[in-house]
Amino acid sequence: MSNTAKASKDKRDILSDPLHGARIDEPTNKVTVHADTKNETIIFNVGGTRFETYKSTLRAIPSSPLSKDSFLEKYYRPDHLDYFFYRDPAVYHCVLNFFCTGELHLSSETCGPVVKSELDFWGVNELEIEECCWHKYSNWLSTLQALRK
Ligand SMILES: [Zn+2]
Repeated sequence: MSNTAKASKDKRDILSDPLHGARIDEPTNKVTVHADTKNETIIFNVGGTRFETYKSTLRAIPSSPLSKDSFLEKYYRPDHLDYFFYRDPAVYHCVLNFFCTGELHLSSETCGPVVKSELDFWGVNELEIEECCWHKYSNWLSTLQALRK
């Protein structure tokens, strides 16, 4: 193998791993990348409801397991090309909005204990709940405390 041929082979190996869709044009050595990794979307199926979201959105809250590939991999279904979670879709919808906007509002139908266990699963602190929705949520907390007395 000539040095030039070896050099271009090495370049190909280095590129193909981190950059999906990267290609070197042999005569010019020009690199072209076809995959737009920045706008890559992934499909979630949460309790039967389908959500499509930017992968970058999921990384918005680094403390959430959703920002970690090792967590996501456990839920990947290669036969469906999606991630399946047997969780409450209504609360996930609120969590996803929180990832997009930085504000956590709750849907009115979901009961406090469900919200709490879903937020725990998605790694979102309940203290992130906005004031407007916190009132209802904290009502549940105080009712629960009263019942336990
Ligand atoms: Zn609200």
